[in-house]
Amino acid sequence: MDLGLKDKVAVITGGSVGIGLAVAEGLAREGVHLVLCARNEERLLQVAEEIQKQSSVKVLGVKTDVSVAADIDNLRFQVEKAFGGADILINNAGTGSEETIMNASDEKWQHYWDLHVMAAIRLARAFVPYMRKRGGGVILHNASICAKQPLWYEPIYNTTKAALVMFSKCLANEVIGDNIRVNTINPGLVLTPDWWKTAGILCEKEGITAKQYLDRIAKENAPIGRFAAPEELANFFVFLCSPRASYSVGSTYYVDGGWLKVI
Ligand code: NDP
Repeated sequence: MDLGLKDKVAVITGGSVGIGLAVAEGLAREGVHLVLCARNEERLLQVAEEIQKQSSVKVLGVKTDVSVAADIDNLRFQVEKAFGGADILINNAGTGSEETIMNASDEKWQHYWDLHVMAAIRLARAFVPYMRKRGGGVILHNASICAKQPLWYEPIYNTTKAALVMFSKCLANEVIGDNIRVNTINPGLVLTPDWWKTAGILCEKEGITAKQYLDRIAKENAPIGRFAAPEELANFFVFLCSPRASYSVGSTYYVDGGWLKVI
């Protein structure tokens, strides 16, 4: 199926590993030029070079901490210089937290607010004007099933991801008149290198292998009984970026192997 994405330009935050990288590779296969951003510049530039070698698209890596306003200004400047703007924005950068409400500092709350919410706000302000000039665009927010079904050990993650879902809905209403479609995806368990690292640490305490640990987590939580591969999420993102998803506006989609316990 031709998804009609050839020669579009996409900005992907956190595009150097995990879900963001899989989305980058999926869009590159559709002929989309890419701007990837992350903090670890060495890994970012290596990934950008690899994708460019394997495909016919241009790939730019821009070192960016999306929780910092000045870095987003620089990202906007670099995108304008290289491509004159962007058609697609994937707000993907983010990470889990671990705390209790009673023990977490104001600084920690603020950091996650900047990372999960202010980044999306600032990136919208940076790139919506280009999308308007180009006659439309797509913005996707990668939140989490935790925005709706909280995990007890990460209240800051749950709360800021829930705020991101509401921001996405408000933005969708504000910009659909400019032919810009905004949606959110809430993944469940996605097997990224970070999960392997966590499992590698926690399994030792229990005297089991990392694979056994991960299989148990999946079986305890997701009715499908396994983690998703990042590519399984990426397929969904790529479809939502395409004109094939032209009536999808302001929605939140769960890609979670059945983990969400409510309708
Ligand atoms: P990974 O940890 O594998 O990758 C995160 C990416 O974001 C990396 O490229 C990282 O690069 C980048 N990143 C992190 N912080 C920043 C920052 N401040 N500024 C710029 N880039 C940053 O994450 P996943 O692929 O697992 O997750 C991606 C998104 O999906 C996250 O928002 C996460 O909350 C969400 N999600 C993931 C699930 C899962 O099971 N994996 C489940 C539900 C939601 P660098 O460190 O170099 O900055």
